[in-house]
Amino acid sequence: MSRPVFRFAPSPNGELHLGHAYSALLNQRMARAAGGRLLLRIEDIDTARCTPQFEEGIYRDLDWLGIAWETPVRRQSEHFDDYAGLLRTLIAQELVYPAFMSRGEARAHIAEAEAGGRSWPRDPDGVPVYPGLDRRLGERERKRRIADGQPFAWRLDTGLALAGLSGPLAWDELSGETGLARTVEADPEAWGDVILARREIATSYHLSVVADDAGQGVTHVVRGRDLYSATAIHRLLQELLGLPAPAYCHHRLILGPDGRKLSKSLGDTGLAALRAAGRTPQEIEEMVGL
Ligand code: GLU
Repeated sequence: MSRPVFRFAPSPNGELHLGHAYSALLNQRMARAAGGRLLLRIEDIDTARCTPQFEEGIYRDLDWLGIAWETPVRRQSEHFDDYAGLLRTLIAQELVYPAFMSRGEARAHIAEAEAGGRSWPRDPDGVPVYPGLDRRLGERERKRRIADGQPFAWRLDTGLALAGLSGPLAWDELSGETGLARTVEADPEAWGDVILARREIATSYHLSVVADDAGQGVTHVVRGRDLYSATAIHRLLQELLGLPAPAYCHHRLILGPDGRKLSKSLGDTGLAALRAAGRTPQEIEEMVGL
């Protein structure tokens, strides 16, 4: 039987902090307990915000923590062609459409609807869902606008995609503590028509994470609770693209002293700063409750 495959997938757009340490260490523990492999993936599709310095910092911090990963490391910025191929598949299936509304136009449309007494749906992150008016644009009009150079993003027609599925959409959620699985029903519709590719970034987090988890044979996705709801979109994309569904484990988040999620700008919880202050890897494990 092939061994389970785990992965830690940070973005090099800031320094790693205690939250990342917990995620990486938990991945390592779960991989060991399952006799599995641990991969490291650099999620650097946002080439404007990701830097080689932050990437170097990731290797340094993980090494210091005692985490061993397989090489070569997959860097998403080297695989834009793979993501474009998957996008083309979805375009050919007419499950994505060019969405032309700018952020300002969408905001104005929503404000007008709300002023008229309608309550506009929010996605699980609290952001109003995209109006999706251009879902109904005819092929000629789409072509004309694209030829005119109008900016657009490729959005998933989530309702249409869901309507074509043969059964309910769900995933196996593992408990990091007990290892027991429960089935979670996926609700991608709550996100509306998500962006799968933009003009400046020819893919999206959702598309590339699904592509790579499948491409790297990942069987266990262990990541923060903040991505729990996004898993619904990942499960939908896996079904549409005929990709296997890994098991998921969304772990607790490490919170700052103010009770909020740690951010990459919180210097004193950064691993490099903690190391410079003389903390040991053992102390880091204690700090994150491992
Ligand atoms: N790259 C994402 C992050 O740094 C994590 C993605 C994932 O684990 O699915 O937040």
